[in-house]
Amino acid sequence: MTVMPEANAPPPLRYHRVILKLSGESLADSNQRGISGDEVECIARQIQQAHATGCQIAVVIGGGNILRGAQFSGTNTMVQQATAHYMGMMATVINSMAMQDALESLGCSTRVMSAIGVDTVAEPFIRRRALRHLEKGRVVILAAGIGRPFVTTDTAAAQRALELGADVVLKATRVDGVYTEDPEKNPHAVLYESLSYQQVIEKNLRVMDATAIALCREHQVPILVFNFKQDGNIVRAVAGESIGTWIGGPSG
Ligand code: UDP
Repeated sequence: MTVMPEANAPPPLRYHRVILKLSGESLADSNQRGISGDEVECIARQIQQAHATGCQIAVVIGGGNILRGAQFSGTNTMVQQATAHYMGMMATVINSMAMQDALESLGCSTRVMSAIGVDTVAEPFIRRRALRHLEKGRVVILAAGIGRPFVTTDTAAAQRALELGADVVLKATRVDGVYTEDPEKNPHAVLYESLSYQQVIEKNLRVMDATAIALCREHQVPILVFNFKQDGNIVRAVAGESIGTWIGGPSG
């Protein structure tokens, strides 16, 4: 016997567990720094809706809206680069705290887990505990990247995807996916529907940092690059709809 789907049944859930990578800049107004309450709320609403479909979601948040370690690479600064990277990690903690409050105010149960010690405001990242939170239906917000300097939160997203057994890394951007050129500079740039990891590396496409791509390629974790600015796209992404640019395929 064939069971007919109910008329208003939700679309089938494609992913069981995802890592959602948000840049720090996604929390700021366009071309601004800092944190915009409106932007945080807008993203939190989308995450809450995606979570309500039953998908387990761990969010890795960047810190570029406040500070990136590489900003201090010049010789005209007394701040050492390693220090600056730890400052960048602290920025991700600030962003994570904002996202936690926004999600909780929408009725979403959350935990912030940090890779550096900030016990007063976040739990330490402990893999098995993170898995337990996800299984209990909490959105886990992963702060401070991997807790080590000289990498970015892209690498953290790939690393945590492996550790937590995520089906996919959802890389949220403010354009529709990966283009032949920067679409904000060249309006004739063409959107790729899909790419292999090798193509991303060979064409030097700025999708995620090289370490993140290498990790995903080695362990065959797919990446979906999509536009979070389009309302409903986070829900579409966790439902496996064909949006953005899909990166996966042969490890070659
Ligand atoms: N960072 C780091 N180790 C990590 C994650 C982040 O040192 O594991 C630092 C690094 O300086 C980085 C900054 O934190 O530039 C902010 O993160 P990121 O640049 O990834 O933020 P995004 O570009 O996603 O906003």
